[in-house]
Amino acid sequence: MLRLDGTAASKAVKEQLKQQTLRLEQDGNRAPHLAAVLVGSNGASETYVAGKVKSCGEIGYDSTLVRFDETISEQELLDKIAELNNDDTIDGILVQLPLPKHISEAKVISAVSPLKDVDGFHPISVGRMVQGLETFIPATPYGIMLMLEHYQLETKGKHAVVIGRSNIVGRPMSILLSSNTTYGNCTVTICHSHTHNLKDLCLQGDIIIAALGRAEFVKADMVKPGAIVIDVGITRVMDETAAKGYRIKGDVDYADVSTVAGAISPVPGGVGPMTIAGLMKNTMEAYLRRK
Ligand code: NAP
Repeated sequence: MLRLDGTAASKAVKEQLKQQTLRLEQDGNRAPHLAAVLVGSNGASETYVAGKVKSCGEIGYDSTLVRFDETISEQELLDKIAELNNDDTIDGILVQLPLPKHISEAKVISAVSPLKDVDGFHPISVGRMVQGLETFIPATPYGIMLMLEHYQLETKGKHAVVIGRSNIVGRPMSILLSSNTTYGNCTVTICHSHTHNLKDLCLQGDIIIAALGRAEFVKADMVKPGAIVIDVGITRVMDETAAKGYRIKGDVDYADVSTVAGAISPVPGGVGPMTIAGLMKNTMEAYLRRK
């Protein structure tokens, strides 16, 4: 059984970007610059943004963290995004989700310039991805594609079962895997909470992408022997014996599924670091396109 080590694969992508940044600077250019916007003090969001800012530092990118109290008005946030859109020294903008309930995420996503949309959530970016045009691919699906590439996992002609249809993971994943690309060309089944016979469908999957947000949902008896299993889930499960009072669990029961799968990504240390790698690649691409 092959363990798909996202920490190692992410390190390799970031090292390439670091070398590319060094070359740019040696040629007299400035480094790429990512602006991250964080509203409120949600623990998980704080952790994710800190990881993204840290990765910028490791690669040699500039980063700016813009923090707002959760009482910020929607208009104030939109004004800040307009300011970042117009700031020529900033290449990529990410707004960490979720946002407080009084702010429309759809409005905020659409406010980010498509030229700086390194999260790939803008409707223009999504439309371009569907049509196979040059665009920004949402960081998590992009990270999974980079993981398939890193481990050179053949996807052509395989049956991929994607569990979850969210705009940020499941839906774009199904589009990428079905596209006519090197790590695409799968036949894709996309499942959601209304899917009947989920277990039977999963058993037909040569590749399973689990992105439903239910801790240890996928068990060995749902997995075809030798299948590639990618675990996207991140759920905090309360555990008094853990130092933080909780443990992070994926959507896949790793110990159980690893007895049957051919390859499996762990949580933590799988898709999480690859998501950051995807974001860092998008930031470089935004910089080069604007240049
Ligand atoms: P989401 O928006 O809540 O979507 C979950 C999807 O799973 C929905 O489409 C839902 O169906 C489906 N679903 C829920 N229960 C199901 C069931 N019992 N059977 C089949 N389908 C079911 O979640 P998300 O944003 O896509 O995130 C999914 C998970 O990935 C979460 O744990 C999240 O924390 C994690 N995540 C991790 C990363 C990372 O970097 N590693 C990045 C993003 C997200 P309906 O559409 O019918 O409701």
